[in-house]
Amino acid sequence: MKTRFDLDQQELPKAWYNVLADLNRPLKPPLDPRTNEPIAPEALAALFPTTCIEQEAATDRFIDIPEPVLDVYRRWRPTPLHRAVHLERALDTSAHIYFKYEGASPTGSHKTNTAVAQAYYNGAEGVRHLVTETGAGQWGSALSFACQTFGLDCTVYMVRISYEQKPYRKTMIQSFGAEIFPSPSERTAAGRAILAEDPASPGSLGIAISEAIEEAVRGEATKYSLGSVLNHVLLHQTVIGLEAEQQMELAGEDPDVIVGCVGGGSNFAGLALPFFHTAAKESRPTRFVAAEPHVCPTLTAGETRYDFGDTAQTTPLLWMHTLGHDFVPPPIHAGGLRYHGMAPIITHLVEDGVIEPVAFDQLDVFESAILFARAEGILPAPETAHAVHAAVRIARDCAAKDEKKVILIGFSGHGHFDMSAYAAYLDGELVTAPARGGSTAQLGESRLFC
Ligand SMILES: *Cc1c(COP(=O)(O)O)cnc(C)c1O
Repeated sequence: MKTRFDLDQQELPKAWYNVLADLNRPLKPPLDPRTNEPIAPEALAALFPTTCIEQEAATDRFIDIPEPVLDVYRRWRPTPLHRAVHLERALDTSAHIYFKYEGASPTGSHKTNTAVAQAYYNGAEGVRHLVTETGAGQWGSALSFACQTFGLDCTVYMVRISYEQKPYRKTMIQSFGAEIFPSPSERTAAGRAILAEDPASPGSLGIAISEAIEEAVRGEATKYSLGSVLNHVLLHQTVIGLEAEQQMELAGEDPDVIVGCVGGGSNFAGLALPFFHTAAKESRPTRFVAAEPHVCPTLTAGETRYDFGDTAQTTPLLWMHTLGHDFVPPPIHAGGLRYHGMAPIITHLVEDGVIEPVAFDQLDVFESAILFARAEGILPAPETAHAVHAAVRIARDCAAKDEKKVILIGFSGHGHFDMSAYAAYLDGELVTAPARGGSTAQLGESRLFC
């Protein structure tokens, strides 16, 4: 039996999949906060290149991947699809568990898929400098790599708590030639306003976004770049699912359940949306389970409404699940999942009952991460560990019912820069963090069935 395979010879997808072509009703448009009217594309031109703005609202089902972007993708794509046979054995489950390994990218996560596309489009339109924020450091690493590849300058605002927890991310970002500052910083009005109120602020993605936008708007030939949430970012990530579809076909199986972790929703969407397209076309009953931390339960406990993407209220209003733009989550280790909002596309599919959200405590998540590492030899990023934990829970239920289901994990990244989180867990220093509202109940628990 062929249990592991790495499809080196596989062709890369030549086009991304655009789910906007297949939604049953249109997305609610982003609004200009000054008028509460749909925002004019020109209003976004200070922040993003024209091509990305067009992709925000494009209706073509497939959008060609530019050749220079494919050239960079070829350095590590297609990423491997592995069957986790050793994890299956450790769980004594009848389920088949596969994982699509985005940790194989140069900076260790899926984020390079959109970073490369965005740096390319910006460079092609004459932009010389990109400014961004980063939570756990994965996005800052990906964008600094992509900027280096296409010859752009790069500035990164890193959420302070992560900056302190992950000094090696800073070094990686600097190695790729970018400059990096902990956020909140004294460099921007947005940062100074937060520090005046709370000099010890751990920062948040919402604050760091405000700082990055402020610097991008005032700079010349400078634009802003976002690593998740927006439609064009999710579009670029679909290369994951398009590859995985071909790879699952080679393995001769169809996934019954696709699980992923959600911060802003991009890696999960990247894997799930192409399968959603096929499932809808062929009336397959594929399930899509999105896992988040219960201290930042955007999908399971947030409201669905228009909200700002950042703390200083500078972005357009997006229709999304949100915990409020001023929400500062407790400093849990999965920095990449500490965002108050959610991609409008994910919100839409949750509202439609297509995507089923669940929320977990970090202790349970790390327990499954260690189980996975010992079985498969790969240490998941703490964010990814939420997806792993969801798969473990479903596979255990399959074992109890002796059912064979095929589970596909979106393995968004490795955890090699997250050793301090693993050290804290192994030293018994991680605690069950009370969820928002004080409950420790796991939200969406009932969805973890086989
Ligand atoms: C950033 C990140 C996430 C969360 O972001 P999404 O946009 O929801 O994918 C998840 N996993 C890893 C490894 C990340 O770096």
